[in-house]
Amino acid sequence: MAHLAANFLLRVLKVVIDALFPLKCLVCGRFFHLLDGPKRQASSSKIQNEFLFHDHGDRTTDLLFGSYLCSVCTADFVPIESPICLSCGIMFRSKEGSNRICGDCITLPKRFRIARAPLAYDQALMNLIHCYKYSGKIQLAKPLGGLLLVTFHRYWDADSINLLIPVPLYTARFKQRGFNQAYLLIYYWEKIAKELNLIVPGIPIETHALLRNRSTAPQTGLGRKERMLNIKNAFGVREPDKIKGKRILLVDDVYTTGATVDECSRVLLENGAKYVDVLTVARAM
Ligand SMILES: [Zn+2]
Ligand SMILES: [Zn+2]
Repeated sequence: MAHLAANFLLRVLKVVIDALFPLKCLVCGRFFHLLDGPKRQASSSKIQNEFLFHDHGDRTTDLLFGSYLCSVCTADFVPIESPICLSCGIMFRSKEGSNRICGDCITLPKRFRIARAPLAYDQALMNLIHCYKYSGKIQLAKPLGGLLLVTFHRYWDADSINLLIPVPLYTARFKQRGFNQAYLLIYYWEKIAKELNLIVPGIPIETHALLRNRSTAPQTGLGRKERMLNIKNAFGVREPDKIKGKRILLVDDVYTTGATVDECSRVLLENGAKYVDVLTVARAM
């Protein structure tokens, strides 16, 4: 009885606190209430059911981002659903048919095995990733990392990967930004896995073996060929022993043409990696 009363009091307290101190959306700055809708309250079992067993990524993002973004800023996220390209993971426009290899991967096979992402890189997600990367809202690493973790469990068996490598930044860029956005996305995995009641992947993160040799012009605005030239030989491996025989998952924030992750994969495979897979938050369509 005392336990029930305490629970009730706790719930009342939560409602009062929420009413007094609304949250501020990290993207648009609008104030909002956590209790805006019952569906916005995250629970680990909900996330498991929604995401791992159904193609309902939209509701999962709502659950994960509920205490960071207002419902307006999460409303337009586009989850990537089948049919997708078996190799690069691009979502086919037509919902007809099953997963298959896309025309681009037939003409230009990729060095990595598979690339997967939970969301399409549209305006809503671009706003969010810009906030994370360029406006110092690094607390977004946690929900974005959570999204990557559920996506990892959706497409991979935990034991099929034994090394995580975030795509490295050039030293000068790293110093200027102060953090590697790809690294932060996997840094919280263990903590998030416990919170969401997911399997803790327990895969080591390697941040020194792969390095960016030189600064590259921003890939934005470049066509496919220019991107490939721009990124060619931009990466190197400094400690091949750490790469040899490894089943690697490369992690980055956005997959645009795939030129960057493909070039990283080439270098890693040349240095003895068994295979390389790719996981990003966003996938350009
Ligand atoms: Zn907002
Ligand atoms: Zn493809």
